[in-house]
Amino acid sequence: MTVNPLPRRPPPVSDELLSSWIGRLARANHCSVEELCGYLGLGQGRVPEHAGDLGHVNWARLCPAVQQTRDEIAAMTLPDTTHHPAQCVSSDDFQSCANCSKQTSGLVLRHWRFAWSLTCENCGRPLVARHPADGLSNRLRVRAARGAALLKTAVAAADLRHMQRISHTLCLLQVLELVYSVPLTSRCQLERSIALAAVDVCSARPLLGVAILLRGNEQAFWDLRRAFPQRRRLIEKVRKLSMNLDMRLPRRRRQESSPVDRSARATSPKKTSAQALDAARQAISELGADADRQALLARADAIWKRQSCVSH
Ligand SMILES: [Zn+2]
Repeated sequence: MTVNPLPRRPPPVSDELLSSWIGRLARANHCSVEELCGYLGLGQGRVPEHAGDLGHVNWARLCPAVQQTRDEIAAMTLPDTTHHPAQCVSSDDFQSCANCSKQTSGLVLRHWRFAWSLTCENCGRPLVARHPADGLSNRLRVRAARGAALLKTAVAAADLRHMQRISHTLCLLQVLELVYSVPLTSRCQLERSIALAAVDVCSARPLLGVAILLRGNEQAFWDLRRAFPQRRRLIEKVRKLSMNLDMRLPRRRRQESSPVDRSARATSPKKTSAQALDAARQAISELGADADRQALLARADAIWKRQSCVSH
């Protein structure tokens, strides 16, 4: 079988994702991605993105047509991490580099899809979330960066125990409604920053971190027991630690009120209404203007509460 090389072959950018390059090849050769996939023997479905998707590829067709070796093409796919307890490789362009995207239209690099990537390895600029957050505190940024580095190390070392701990912490954040599903690769910068910061906290002092977070919140312990019945002994241990903290820090506890009360006291009505407006805008941008009104209100409320908690 003789396969002619494609007439136009823009070379792949360093660390470019296979689907990104196939899309650029299709545009350069004035055909659709579907037509090109058929010609290259990639089938009619989605362009393979993960190493495990390459099982049905017709290499005898693909390699000569694009003038790349099998190993070079396989290196352009994402690693299979479905066995990992926490999902940290996205199948979605949740972030990108504005600079590289501007220089090469349609470009997607592999590492942009990784939960621990905060900086573009091609140009060194910060990666930008689909839904950037205004006014993230420096403290949250630093913690998120530390969490990202810890996550990268855990994945590189295949440290499943550490990743299991990260996964449990993320489940806890979901029960507390601080994040939604798959928060490490969330399009929402605030949600992802909270999740990465939680990776940092849980890696250092997991039980103490949870105890501080839930201090005085008996309802949250009930919710946790219901959500994780197999973990009741561990939850009881954290509850006792939390009660112990209450006894050791009585004055501080009396002085404290709920995060929402504190934010309401410390924030002027003007700033509060601006934050509420921002939350509403973000909810609309995430769910779409046609989304159900109750769903929009619930999402805006959750975003506003989290912004209040994070900024204080
Ligand atoms: Zn870049």
